[in-house]
Amino acid sequence: MADTKERKLPAPAVSAETQAYWDAAAQGKLLVRKCTSCGELHHYPRTICPFCFSDKTEWIEASGKGTLYSYSVMRRAPVPYAMAYVTLAEGPRMVTNIVDCDFNKLKCEQPVKVVFKPTDGGPPLPMFRPRPRRSRRPASRHAR
Ligand SMILES: [Zn+2]
Repeated sequence: MADTKERKLPAPAVSAETQAYWDAAAQGKLLVRKCTSCGELHHYPRTICPFCFSDKTEWIEASGKGTLYSYSVMRRAPVPYAMAYVTLAEGPRMVTNIVDCDFNKLKCEQPVKVVFKPTDGGPPLPMFRPRPRRSRRPASRHAR
């Protein structure tokens, strides 16, 4: 079945600038970069703040929660996958993949949560899967 096939993920390029990011990913933590000069957060992490160009930036751990901003399903790939923009709860928007779900049921603005996927000989990549909304409806209409 198509959804049991795992896509081979190439190892990400790790540089001195992103070493801490990938070390955290290996521990299941998603980091973003915060600028202590203007207060803005950004992702993908860079030492220089993309908003004010200050180099006074620091790591902070993100909650791993976000919402799906937009997506595109690559159905012609050997193993179909969903490219997506996810807006993190902390604010920054990141380019990622949506995994472990039925792509036909994806909706913009739906809640998602980070999950780390193993790569070929490198640190795991942060991707996202749908997470249930807070209010749950009863499973059956006939429940009393
Ligand atoms: Zn800044």
